[in-house]
Amino acid sequence: GKLTDGLNRGVEGALASVSEAYLEPVIRLGVTGLSRAGKTVFITGLVANLLDRGRMPQLRAAAEGRIETVFLQPQPDVTLPRFDYEGHLAALTGDDPRWPASTRAVSELRLSFRVQQAGWLGGFRGPRTLHLDVIDYPGEWLLDLALLDKSYADWSEDTLARLDKRPEAKEFMAVARAEDGSLPLDEMRAQALAARFTAYLAAARAAGWSDCTPGRFLLPGDLAGSPVLTFAPLPRPSEASRTSLWQEMERRYEGYKSKVVKPFFRNHFSRIDRQVVLVDALGAIHSGPQALEDLRRTMAEILTAFRPGSNGFLSKLLLGKRVEKILFAATKADHLHHTQHGALTGIMQAMTREARDRAAFAGAEVAAMSLSSLRATVEETVGRNGDALDCVRGRLLSTGKQAAMYPGELPSDPARLLSPAREGAERWLDSEFSLMSFAPSRLNLRPGEGPPHIRLDRAAEFLIGDRL
Ligand code: GDP
Repeated sequence: GKLTDGLNRGVEGALASVSEAYLEPVIRLGVTGLSRAGKTVFITGLVANLLDRGRMPQLRAAAEGRIETVFLQPQPDVTLPRFDYEGHLAALTGDDPRWPASTRAVSELRLSFRVQQAGWLGGFRGPRTLHLDVIDYPGEWLLDLALLDKSYADWSEDTLARLDKRPEAKEFMAVARAEDGSLPLDEMRAQALAARFTAYLAAARAAGWSDCTPGRFLLPGDLAGSPVLTFAPLPRPSEASRTSLWQEMERRYEGYKSKVVKPFFRNHFSRIDRQVVLVDALGAIHSGPQALEDLRRTMAEILTAFRPGSNGFLSKLLLGKRVEKILFAATKADHLHHTQHGALTGIMQAMTREARDRAAFAGAEVAAMSLSSLRATVEETVGRNGDALDCVRGRLLSTGKQAAMYPGELPSDPARLLSPAREGAERWLDSEFSLMSFAPSRLNLRPGEGPPHIRLDRAAEFLIGDRL
């Protein structure tokens, strides 16, 4: 009894110190957000600034000088596309800097750290190795989770009801209403329906709507043209035979769920430890109250995906494992003079709080902030009509010329923007925001040439600082 207990304890102790010395911890950081939210630029900026830590003062381990080296390593998942860091960096740092190509599918990148441990004992223990696996995936794919709980009939009904009120869907709605689902499948008509539906989704996305599922319709990858992407919502016929259009659409919809949505959650989503959700809040605010309301609903829906037990399929998949931290970050803060950054952060925090309430979310640590992954502007105060306007100056993509512009105003009290009673009453960022398409300024990590980012180091501190 006693002897074996003691032996066991000795073995356990030895194993613990072995694993401490040799086991290298891995953090799997998910980066998501709807298309054009800024995922590619975020990852490229984050990695570039981590590799060269001179410009990350808010990352504690960096400020304390404990990070010895950071380097890129081959990723563990050999069948997953590698995030094209070098290609994107080359686009941003070339002689004629360009924005890189956006995220179209899931990809991964492994970054490894050699870090001195914190505290006065840390120096004696020697450096540790920690791996950060960054997983980039479209936010549209996350929203597809809601489809898993819905039959084709329910999904059709909900979607058609929503589309009915949208001008972008007018053409699709006319075709869908004229269709009789009980008639035998005609492949050409099915394809025409799916094409119209896809065109609607693209128009809705461009107009600033967030809920543009099924996500693969906009980012099809190698599924383009396959039956799982050739369906559309239809009015339910009173009866439908096995060979009818309705039943075939239903079969494809179910195929999309089981062959496209589920594997993504199983293979990628289920293994994420920490998550950053990037949000183009400025774009939504500029688009107006409806787009903003839609974004608020979408944020709650995204949080639902991270709520344990929110979905039967997910609960079985995750078996109690949960994401530890979630950051909602408004991107492109360099469109605003810093005097307005506080207002943007306040809006993000209010929206995140509200999303938590809507999704009845509890568990992970959730935070909100505003940032710019790659600062394309400098600040300038300009006199106009007797007023001093806090502008930002950058090189316009359209003309290639420098311009100082004023985006318009954000409310200092988020309630003025977010209260539903105000819907339609006020518009924000309605000055020159729509003209503000700046070219990237060359990503420059040398000191003394202006900060290359805004609060990217704070985001890194929240997401991984506790493990460094
Ligand atoms: P993704 O679709 O989420 O991968 O989005 P991207 O990272 O490709 O970003 C979409 C676009 O947003 C870029 O092409 C830029 O025009 C813009 N953008 C992203 N981050 C920033 C930023 O920090 N500052 C500015 N000014 N524009 C940005």
